[in-house]
Amino acid sequence: MDHNDRTPRRQAPPSGAPRCPVCQSPAGTPDQACDACCASLASPWGMCPSQLRGAAPTEPTAAALIDRWGGVWRLPRRTVIGRDPARCQLALLHGDVSPVHALLELGAAGWWLSDLGSRTGTWLERRRVTAAALPRVARVRVGAMELFFLADARALRAPDAAARREADEITAPFAVDEQPVAATSALVLVEASSGWGRLSRGDRGVPVPPCQLTLLQALAQRWHDDHAVAPADRGFVAIDAVLAVIPWEATAATRTNLKQLVRRTRLTLAALDVDDHLEGRRSDGGAYRMRGGVRLEP
Ligand SMILES: [Zn+2]
Repeated sequence: MDHNDRTPRRQAPPSGAPRCPVCQSPAGTPDQACDACCASLASPWGMCPSQLRGAAPTEPTAAALIDRWGGVWRLPRRTVIGRDPARCQLALLHGDVSPVHALLELGAAGWWLSDLGSRTGTWLERRRVTAAALPRVARVRVGAMELFFLADARALRAPDAAARREADEITAPFAVDEQPVAATSALVLVEASSGWGRLSRGDRGVPVPPCQLTLLQALAQRWHDDHAVAPADRGFVAIDAVLAVIPWEATAATRTNLKQLVRRTRLTLAALDVDDHLEGRRSDGGAYRMRGGVRLEP
């Protein structure tokens, strides 16, 4: 298989040897796209695996998209791709991608690819398209991000998470990061054996009750993990995810409980003049973040 030829080629059925499901070359494992195919996919400069976000669909079809790190994204019948995780089944957190960019849809006649009025365009192979029928195997481009489409990807296996994390770490140092937060505002959170914590900034410090401590730890961890995510999206933790980690005293904590907890935590942060660092947003079903992060110390 000549990988300069951008059209994946269908060849004779395998005669025993494992074949790449994209290029059909007798290389690699039968249940993963080969390294050469994955490496041939273009991606925006600095893009890394953690900038792709998709929930496992409740009713996946046989189809999937493959990213350049071998990630397999199972497709529901209607899959919107774009930058806004709240409105997309597959979110590509990159400024080159429009909030709602392209649509993959399974109709009676098969899969269709449509552009949703994106700024940077949707491409099928080398052709910019507004709407086009998808072949069984195709190279799709959303802005500067290429993915392989496979109409039947049931046998495909995703690479293990460790390989993606490794790719993340290799790529992340080159990613464009947010402006560094001024050293004067650096927050340090220390966890005490009592379950309480202590938050300090410069020479000032305040005690932090257990639930606030867990909230701040969760937000700080996400901010840290999201080092390669676009500044506007970095560090947000969905409300449902926050609700799940807080050690509530009530058995059934609600969004109202969380709002109250956030309000109390802001009061704690206000003592250090950083209450505006705890931000909320309505999109995504609601999410919170701690802008600028917090250094966690044991
Ligand atoms: Zn291949």
